[in-house]
Amino acid sequence: MTEYEAVIGLEVHAQLKTRSKMFCGCSADYDGAEPNTVVCPVCLGMPGVLPVINRRAVEFTIRTALALHCQVAEFAKFDRKNYHYPDLPKGYQISQYDMPLSQHGWLEVEVDGERKRIRIRRVHLEEDTGKLTHVGDVSLVDYNRSGVPLLEIVSEPDMRSAEEARQYCTALRQLLRWIDVSTGDMETGAMRFEANVSVRPKGATEFGTRVEIKNLNSIRAVYQSVDYEIRRQIEVLERGGTVVQETMGWDEDRGVTVPQRTKEYAHDYRYFPEPDLPPLVVERAWVEEIRAALPELPEERRRRYMQEYGLSAYDAGVLTGDRATGEYFEEAVRIYGGDPKRVANWITGELFRVLRATETPIEESPVRPAELVELIRLVDEGVVSTTKAKDVFAEMAETGKGARQIVEERGLRLISDADQLRAVVEEVLQQHPKPVQDYLSGKEAAIGFLIGQVMRATKGQADPGVVRSLLQEALSRMRE
Ligand code: ADP
Ligand code: MG
Ligand code: ZN
Repeated sequence: MTEYEAVIGLEVHAQLKTRSKMFCGCSADYDGAEPNTVVCPVCLGMPGVLPVINRRAVEFTIRTALALHCQVAEFAKFDRKNYHYPDLPKGYQISQYDMPLSQHGWLEVEVDGERKRIRIRRVHLEEDTGKLTHVGDVSLVDYNRSGVPLLEIVSEPDMRSAEEARQYCTALRQLLRWIDVSTGDMETGAMRFEANVSVRPKGATEFGTRVEIKNLNSIRAVYQSVDYEIRRQIEVLERGGTVVQETMGWDEDRGVTVPQRTKEYAHDYRYFPEPDLPPLVVERAWVEEIRAALPELPEERRRRYMQEYGLSAYDAGVLTGDRATGEYFEEAVRIYGGDPKRVANWITGELFRVLRATETPIEESPVRPAELVELIRLVDEGVVSTTKAKDVFAEMAETGKGARQIVEERGLRLISDADQLRAVVEEVLQQHPKPVQDYLSGKEAAIGFLIGQVMRATKGQADPGVVRSLLQEALSRMRE
């Protein structure tokens, strides 16, 4: 039986977080506005108007390009991509065709514990279209979205599984949010995906015929549609058929890809240079300025956490999920001064549990880094047990009280005073002659039961280490 290999390339669109739209002064934040109220003659595509390039949008595109290790062009231009659709009042979209702002980069993703570079073909800038809503047999159009700056990021066909496609989308979204150019919100359509999928016999050097799946509005949809499409294409080939190059949509409810009437999408865009806009001369000094202002990127930070703090790849990945998490972690490590892994464990364990349950972003965490460190120190000093500390943490999160205060109020302080515990130990030994006998006749494991009894008698507040040594002491005296 032939073994097959999938080949996947992704086109990702992301709205830029600029204040105004791409070519006019309308607000780019139309969220919650009445339909067709955040518009002007320019973004409505009236004849005779002149577009003006949004400098901030160009800057954000360059920032993204640099974060993706792309080469930024010295000279770029905008082109008209002509097609007719009701969401496009001008009859063309201003995009970039043969001279995009940047090309030839890469993004690193992790799949099955292995790091892999997915090459980026290009990052260019264009404008978003209006939005159609179909109600029964009429369609409504809202032009608020029309003209919002839109980034298009096209990968090389370097992915080999639906999982790789998912990891790529996840890493890309993380990066766009990290460098603060896009919200990456999928529910609002600020980030959208298209997947190109083909299969070929494993080891073949040529690509198979590809299908393009359009309008994927979540990473989940990317994963599921690509996974489905790979299986479908393999089945076609196995039956002796051929894959037809076509554009498909994803039917989320049925979980299948469906062909779109491709005539409507005939790809003859008759691109030509946008005559109303000057070409872009991208000054190197500006590019270097943007590069210098880039924050430490997730990938670099991840590596640093592993090298500098000795974190596992997993913990380093989780703690660099977004910038705020990393900043919380580093602040706690700085205040603590001890083993960063202890801090990492508390954050990925107890803190994340609370934040997830209450849907709170870490920036608004009810427990601040300094307060978490206070609790960790109480455990280090043997004042409170790890188990009890978890309860204390939950209460800190709920009430906003400090660790020390809760430990005192609840009387959770561990009893590590030997004199206080000796009496309890004696009592337990008298009450349980059988395990004592067992221990004395060589079954040393019986001490576990005795420790348990002392813990019970002290409602779990005895320091288990002290209890163990007191018991050992007493038992060895009985042996003599
Ligand atoms: P178009 O502009 O028609 O969408 P492109 O050549 O620009 O076509 O490719 C678009 C995307 O398709 C890119 O992400 C690319 O990596 C991917 N791609 C190209 N060929 C294949 C293939 N045979 N199988 C899977 N993906 C492919
Ligand atoms: Mg395409
Ligand atoms: Zn406008």
